[in-house]
Amino acid sequence: MRRTINSYAQALLDIFYPRICLYCRRNINYSCDCYICSKCKKDISFINESHCIRCGAILGPYSLSSDKEGCVFCRSQHFYHDSLTAIAHYNGAIKELIHKYKYEKQRFLYKGINDLILANKKLEKIIQEIDIVVPVPLYWRKKLQRGFNQSELIAREIHRIFLKPLSVKNLIRIKNTVSQTKLSKSKRYANVRKAFFIKDPALVEGKRVLLVDDVLTTGLTMQECAKKLKETGVKSVHLFVLAIADYRS
Ligand SMILES: [Zn+2]
Ligand SMILES: [Zn+2]
Repeated sequence: MRRTINSYAQALLDIFYPRICLYCRRNINYSCDCYICSKCKKDISFINESHCIRCGAILGPYSLSSDKEGCVFCRSQHFYHDSLTAIAHYNGAIKELIHKYKYEKQRFLYKGINDLILANKKLEKIIQEIDIVVPVPLYWRKKLQRGFNQSELIAREIHRIFLKPLSVKNLIRIKNTVSQTKLSKSKRYANVRKAFFIKDPALVEGKRVLLVDDVLTTGLTMQECAKKLKETGVKSVHLFVLAIADYRS
C-alpha cells in the first residue's frame, strides 16, 4: 500500500519536476532510479576484456598481454601496482556524470556512480584477492572545499557491499597538488612526487590493497600512492578506477 502511494507521489513529482538524463537531457521514466537514460547508458564505452591488465591500454585482436609483463605499451615501464581494473572509458555520459559529481559538487550522484560500478562484474572477480580498500586521498583543504572525497565515496560503497576493511585515514596527501591535466608532461611527476604519507605502516604491512580512484588520467598519482604503499611493505596494490582517460598522450 505504502509502495503504491509512494509511486503516485513520485509520478506527480515527475509531472512537475521531470527527471532528465544529465547527458542528453531527455526525460527519464520515474520508475528508473537513475541519472542517465537507458539510451545513454547503452552508449557508455565499457572496457571489455581486450585491455591490458597492467596499464589498461586497449588491445587489438593480435596484441598480447600478460599480468606480469604487460602489453606493447607498458612492457618497458616499471610500475608499482600489480594490476589495474577500470570499468569504462572517460567520455560521453560517464565523463559528464563524473564532472558533475566532482566539480559541480553534486554529491548525490555518487549513487549513480556506485550503481555503474556494481552492475559491472569486474570488481567481484578481483575482490577475493583484496585485504583492505584504500581511496586515493585528497589534500585536506581540497576535501574541505569540495565537501567530500569522490574516491572515498566509491571505496566506502565497495567496503559496504563486499565487507572488506576500509582505510581512509592512513594514506594521506601531504602536498596540495594541482590537477595533473593542467600541467605539461614534464611537470606532472614533480607535482605528485612525495605527495603522500602513511601514518601507521603496521595497518597495511603485508596486505593486498585495492587502491580506489574515480578517474585514471596520467596514472602518476596512483603510481605515487602505490609506490608509497609498496615502500611501506604492502604485499600487492591493485588499482581500481571507474573510468580511464587516454593518458599516453
Ligand atoms: Zn540520455
Ligand atoms: Zn599494458
